[in-house]
Amino acid sequence: MTVTLEKSVEDFITTPHKLFIDGQWVDAASGKTFATPNPATGQTLAHVAEADAEDVDRAVRAARRAFEQGPWSRMTASERGRIIWRIGDLILEHAEELAQLEALDNGKPVAVARAADVPLAADLFHYMAGWATKIEGNTISLSVPYMPGAAFHAYTLREPVGVVGQIIPWNFPLLMAAWKLGPALATGNVVILKPAEQTPLSALRLAELIAEAGMPDGVVNVLPGYGETAGAALAAHDGVDKVAFTGSTEVGKLIVHAAAGNLKKVTLELGGKSPNVVFDDADPDIAIQGAANAIFFNHGQCCVAGSRLFVQRDRFDQVVEGVAEIARGIRLGPGMEPDTQMGPLVSDEQLRRVTGYLDSGRAEGVRTLAGGNRHGERGYFVQPTVLTDVRPEMKVVREEIFGPVVVASPFSDLDEIAAQANATDFGLGAGIWTRDISKAHALAGKIRAGTVWINCYNVFDAALPFGGYKQSGWGREMGHQALDAYTEVKSVCTQLQT
Ligand code: NAD
Repeated sequence: MTVTLEKSVEDFITTPHKLFIDGQWVDAASGKTFATPNPATGQTLAHVAEADAEDVDRAVRAARRAFEQGPWSRMTASERGRIIWRIGDLILEHAEELAQLEALDNGKPVAVARAADVPLAADLFHYMAGWATKIEGNTISLSVPYMPGAAFHAYTLREPVGVVGQIIPWNFPLLMAAWKLGPALATGNVVILKPAEQTPLSALRLAELIAEAGMPDGVVNVLPGYGETAGAALAAHDGVDKVAFTGSTEVGKLIVHAAAGNLKKVTLELGGKSPNVVFDDADPDIAIQGAANAIFFNHGQCCVAGSRLFVQRDRFDQVVEGVAEIARGIRLGPGMEPDTQMGPLVSDEQLRRVTGYLDSGRAEGVRTLAGGNRHGERGYFVQPTVLTDVRPEMKVVREEIFGPVVVASPFSDLDEIAAQANATDFGLGAGIWTRDISKAHALAGKIRAGTVWINCYNVFDAALPFGGYKQSGWGREMGHQALDAYTEVKSVCTQLQT
């Protein structure tokens, strides 16, 4: 049985998909289009206009005009906040349609998109709408030692950075668009958003909803296209004041180089190889379910996936076998089937990457407790996989696989596990499972990662900052910390004539 396709989804998929520049739907300057496949079948879902450097240039000019001459920068913060709030409302009004689009284009189960991606995206806009009226500077008392007796009135202003390029990945297409757009708009910036080439559809539908919410032309521009062309042009463009990127660490480094030309501001949310630590006093059922959820949610295609499972020695066999049993029981299928628990990977490329890691693990001598192979012949499915007998130098332990593959190792005590947890170039997330609150917080303090979950995993909230230490990125998304990256601080200093 398949979920009945909403008429609006069918209509949307079959209409031509263009670029959204300056409030208009336009063809790419080159006239080129690209196909976005349904990952459950490998068949083409839709053709989409393919932006490249010329379109990026056009969008940057439109955004600059909107920033310098359009109504957006003259609106009150309250008016801007109301538009952003309305975007959140419209996402909820079109929740089923957006969930289905996400399931078709990305492959994730529609039930997951309904429960997580769509409401989280709406909530992000609602949360950020409230911040629009709360962007404040400070008044500062000055001492200026070389001007004795002088009196000053000094204050800071928080101003938008300006034209922002945002490049997002395919794992949570709508939600990543929300994470990026929400804080940028709440602080009065204008945006050129480039969705991932694998999953452009929900961002294009979001652009329609943003226009419907009353957003002035040119404030949000959406340019589907490839990373090496459209993405690279956006990261390098001299008319862009800031670039915000989510994706692989490898491309994050390219973004930094490209941004150096005009020294645009850069924030990065990159890869991870997050440790998930189960102590022997944890409730085994809760920890087993938690460890499985930490790696298998979204088919392991989460930057924060709990992909390195560490279990205290006495409980190792029980917990790892428990996770393997869950893995063996997960129902794989197309995202649009209601009882699917895990869909396909997003693309043929990801399928080859992930199965390549499985081959490399086998060649290096890992033991496969569950899964270990591609599932079926059609679509990009991979079996949920649990690997043991791993060593720190193995590729499967060091590198981000970005698939449903967990490597499990035993540990003895807190000091040992802190070192093991931190033995990675990444620092995005971590999980700790224990009934001992002191031990949990002691370890949380030692782990070099942007988010530490205790007795839970994959808990995201618009109010909770998210981002990475080390090579997992620069800056934070969500929470009020996200606003800092989208504002410049201006100091204004007046000498009082007394
Ligand atoms: P990627 O980093 O190549 O792509 C992410 C985004 O960057 C896409 O929009 C892409 O078009 C764009 N991009 C690619 N090359 C670019 C360039 N040179 N300049 C500017 N933009 C560019 O990720 P991917 O190829 O889709 O996946 C590869 C690996 O990246 C995954 O296996 C995973 O390890 C990692 N990844 C991480 C995240 C995350 O959330 N941290 C998300 C997706 C992928």
